Amino acid sequence: MKRKSIIKHALYYRKIGLYPFPVMGKIPLFKNWNKKILTPEEIINGFYQGGKLIEFSNRTNIGILTGHKVDILDIDSTEALLNLKKNGAFPNTPVAKTNRGYHVYFKHSPHLKSCSPISQVDFQSTGKFVVAPPSLHSSGNKYKFIIHPKDAAFARLPNWLDQKISAQIKAQSRPQQNDYNHGENVNWYNYFSKYVLNIKKQNSDWLTGLCPFHEDHNNSFAFSPNHGGWICFANCGQGNGYQFLEKVKRDLMEDTKNEI
Ligand SMILES: [Zn+2]
Repeated sequence: MKRKSIIKHALYYRKIGLYPFPVMGKIPLFKNWNKKILTPEEIINGFYQGGKLIEFSNRTNIGILTGHKVDILDIDSTEALLNLKKNGAFPNTPVAKTNRGYHVYFKHSPHLKSCSPISQVDFQSTGKFVVAPPSLHSSGNKYKFIIHPKDAAFARLPNWLDQKISAQIKAQSRPQQNDYNHGENVNWYNYFSKYVLNIKKQNSDWLTGLCPFHEDHNNSFAFSPNHGGWICFANCGQGNGYQFLEKVKRDLMEDTKNEI
């Protein structure tokens, strides 16, 4: 692939709000790739990290950061795609063919995080990336759009898929059952709503809101009004209801002290 063509595609991705960066095969060329957003100038001319020029070349592929404008469903095989489709239909949204499977591009869902909702399927969000067309796979196959972003806007995750991913995140983050035993009579909604703003319904069990522990604009915080479990997807922490109040006392009261 010609360097000029790679850069042209990378600039196109940047123009439609995605964050492309150079990878070798499937390996990022520089450190902290998940924290660096390349400017169009850096896409064209490269940039220096640790005295080394990092740039797109005719040997590099294009990586795209997920968890910003898009989250990407990385489906490893046609079999996995068929399994997934048993649960519901996909909206019209960009899809790329990978070597053995598919990348389905969705509008970023701030309340979700990377996980594997079913076997051979990865939901790639914050802190992850995918290799994008027209990159070359080591097999010699090219990544190629089946539905191009020019022809379809990034769709929101369909409800059935959102629920499947949420359920998986919940299963992963569920604190031990014992932690809830004392909480049966607590009104967790009232408890959390003193500190969590912009509360929205996520699914039958979880609500999201603005995390009180960081400057949150994305409803990164989720809690369960049923059992008091909570998590901040921006890594402020997670735990049971009692641990939430402990953290509020520790972090927020500390801030108040500093302000006084
Ligand atoms: Zn937070």
